[in-house]
Amino acid sequence: MVPFKDVFLGLEQRPYKRATSSQKCLRVSGKHNDLENVGPSPRHHTFFEMLGNFSFGDYFKRDAIRFAWHLLIDELGLPLERMWFSVYTDDDEAERLWIEAGAPKERVLRFGKKDNWWSMGDTGPCGPSSEIHYYWGDLDQQIADGVNKDDEYLEIWNLVFMQYDAKPDGTLVPLPAPSVDTGAGLERLASILQGKDNNYDTDAFAPIMARIQGLLDQTAEHRQQHLARYRAIADHSRSVTFLIADGVMPGNEGRSYVLRMILRRAARFGKLIGFEGPFLAQIAEVVIEQMGGHYTDLPEKSAFIFQTITEEEERFHRTLTTGLVLLDELMTKLRAAGETVIPGEEAFQLWDTYGFPVDLTRDVAGDQGFTVDEASFRAALNEAKERSRATAQDKTAQDVSVYSTLLAELQKQGVLGKAGVKQLIYENMAENDTEIAGLIVQGQNVMEAHAGAQVEIVLPETPFYAESGGQVGDTGEIYYFPEDVDVPVWTVEVTDTRKRIPGLIVHIGKVVSGTLKIGDPAHAAINTERRWDIMRNHTGTHVLHAVLREQLGMHVHQAGSLVAPERLRFDFTHTQPVSKEELAHIEKRANEIVLANYPVNTRWTSYKRAVQEGAMALFGEKYGDEVRVVSFGENEEANDAVSMELCGGTHVDSTAEIGNFRIVSESSVGSGMRRVEVITGRLAEALMEERLALLERTAAILRTKPAEIDQAAQQLQEQNQQLQKEITQLRQKLAQQDTQTLLERAISVDGFKVLSVQVNALDVDAMRQMSDWFRDRLGSSVVVVGSVIDDKPMLVASVTNDLLNRGMHAGNLVRDTAKLIGGGGGGRPNMAQAGGKESAQLPAALQSVPTWVEQNLK
Ligand code: ATP
Ligand code: MG
Repeated sequence: MVPFKDVFLGLEQRPYKRATSSQKCLRVSGKHNDLENVGPSPRHHTFFEMLGNFSFGDYFKRDAIRFAWHLLIDELGLPLERMWFSVYTDDDEAERLWIEAGAPKERVLRFGKKDNWWSMGDTGPCGPSSEIHYYWGDLDQQIADGVNKDDEYLEIWNLVFMQYDAKPDGTLVPLPAPSVDTGAGLERLASILQGKDNNYDTDAFAPIMARIQGLLDQTAEHRQQHLARYRAIADHSRSVTFLIADGVMPGNEGRSYVLRMILRRAARFGKLIGFEGPFLAQIAEVVIEQMGGHYTDLPEKSAFIFQTITEEEERFHRTLTTGLVLLDELMTKLRAAGETVIPGEEAFQLWDTYGFPVDLTRDVAGDQGFTVDEASFRAALNEAKERSRATAQDKTAQDVSVYSTLLAELQKQGVLGKAGVKQLIYENMAENDTEIAGLIVQGQNVMEAHAGAQVEIVLPETPFYAESGGQVGDTGEIYYFPEDVDVPVWTVEVTDTRKRIPGLIVHIGKVVSGTLKIGDPAHAAINTERRWDIMRNHTGTHVLHAVLREQLGMHVHQAGSLVAPERLRFDFTHTQPVSKEELAHIEKRANEIVLANYPVNTRWTSYKRAVQEGAMALFGEKYGDEVRVVSFGENEEANDAVSMELCGGTHVDSTAEIGNFRIVSESSVGSGMRRVEVITGRLAEALMEERLALLERTAAILRTKPAEIDQAAQQLQEQNQQLQKEITQLRQKLAQQDTQTLLERAISVDGFKVLSVQVNALDVDAMRQMSDWFRDRLGSSVVVVGSVIDDKPMLVASVTNDLLNRGMHAGNLVRDTAKLIGGGGGGRPNMAQAGGKESAQLPAALQSVPTWVEQNLK
């Protein structure tokens, strides 16, 4: 009934008063079908198809009951001796109507609020309900007490009679036009018609169950032994497949979180029954085979669905590893403190932050003699649920009463029509003469507003576009400028336009001069230049959407968009980064569409027709029955448009008006979600001009023509490399020469040479090489090489073997010498090294070497 909520509340009108539906449903919480119940329960799913019939102030109880009877008993031929009917405690009328339809009196049971009362919230529409149950046990075992209690009694259909409006004080006021909302589970009906005592043995699930068993190469006994897990996997694979096909990606918030939770639950059960790696995609394959005939988008997106599932499973496996480590640490800590209970908050955090499932926490903890504090876990979970609900409802929770009061008042006075403020946006009118209908200052309805005030202005009709569908609101001016005066009486600068509630558009801005009053004539003019930029970007968004699907695949779904004057931003489902080549293709194709100069067509049609013709509707968006279709690139014969979308935004008249289409960035926004940013028209032009100027400037610096700049740059680089090579060679030469000169500094002592020099070495290795080089040339010698390496003074000493028995010892030599540079070291008699701290003392240390030789020479 969710899509009909506003119709029941009288906020929205439809051209029909009766409806029937068959719709996809996803439930993870409910009266008694919490997620945990799926698997153990033979009849509860997270994903199922619900059949319904609705009356919006048309037929009521009598027909609703008659219709249900007719379908179940006359058409489907269900045996009356197995049927039970429940009504609300004091709903005598419903009871009488069932009996009139043909039900034996003893088969109509009465239940209280818990089972047979429906309400939308604490206040608002509500009423009694009536349920139809089916008994599938042994015929002679039936008892009235089993209904709504035992598993043999299956609820198949729920009829809700909305007949009251609950007031805050608790009174029930009869609704002027009582309505009907019913729901019957397709899978449950199938189980009865196919003679199965559970949904999983019907043709909807049997092939999925078989695939699980087949993939595991397992027996019927194995399946029986792990029945709940098999069933949960079968169920979850359906939810997961449909959620992803509808554009939901695994994540940590809202519906993304629901998908992640379901998928990981299936993955976890899979592990427990013997799957080793990712397997769910192979189950999803059967789901698509089964359901793809009707839900044709499934086969179209199958590759994307499989990939998304597998990636999330892989992520989950990594998570498990991390989670086990964390849990282990936690238990070690608790054990040390003598505790055996894992606090619920901790268990929740493991799940919430690390995606580590609580049932796994229970298992692992149990193995080690721990338990989980379930109460505090529930509390933490509920708190988180509450939080996410609160954020989701943030917008609606805002106090809108000032707007609804104003709207009602203006409608009563006849200033506004039934549809509220009239928008002139589709006539492409940039300005119009009108009057001030409403003024809001600081959240209050006021009669006048003075210079300096922040105001929200309501006009009976406006050319301003109110933010919607990603397109930002218009800016501009509203002023009163009679012909006989020189300056406007008052002027308001409008900085944004919003639709506060359906029917009420406000112009938000500041009074720049004068005082405006309710009833004043007013001239409203939008900033047209800015609006053109926006329209180019909006049509550009449709071009991008179409090209992305064409180039990347039909799994691409718009997940969000921003259409602003300076750029457009488009978020979409896609699991990998879009490569440079792909982006180049996309840009090229988009500009082809621009140049093809397709007229942009807009028309109003029914939602059904539009979708049948292939128009793209956005997931999660609510559409009325009459929708606006924006399309371009229709091919005369095939009627195949390049782009066809449901859209209420403003667009250019033909694609060429987009001017130019440039992708400026591509990035990731969460798992499986990419973001592309594009500029068009004036901004794309400005960007290109800027780039061309840069090219000119650079060419001038390189003293070449722009067209040859790459060659010039390459030449420059080659030259650079050549020069670099030469420098290196020269340096080496220079170093060799240096070394040669240094060699001459060797002094003769008693038949051998002593050389002690400072060099420029890169590292100790180089010092050693140098010292070797010196020794090889000097013959019988004591050589000490010093150098500063990484700001530290270093010494390397070598002594030829013939001098070892004459008191020369490289180790002792560096040890003593290093003292002078504030360090130490040592080594073998013929080769040693040392380091110090005081680089400044290195020359002095080296100078001391000859003295050391003299003093130690034997
Ligand atoms: P139950 O009491 O069996 O949990 P419910 O009262 O929560 O069901 P309703 O909200 O009345 O169900 O939904 C209308 C019909 O949709 C039910 O009569 C049933 O046939 C079907 N249905 C509801 N929940 C599920 C579910 N989780 N899985 C499959 N079918 C369901
Ligand atoms: Mg029910």
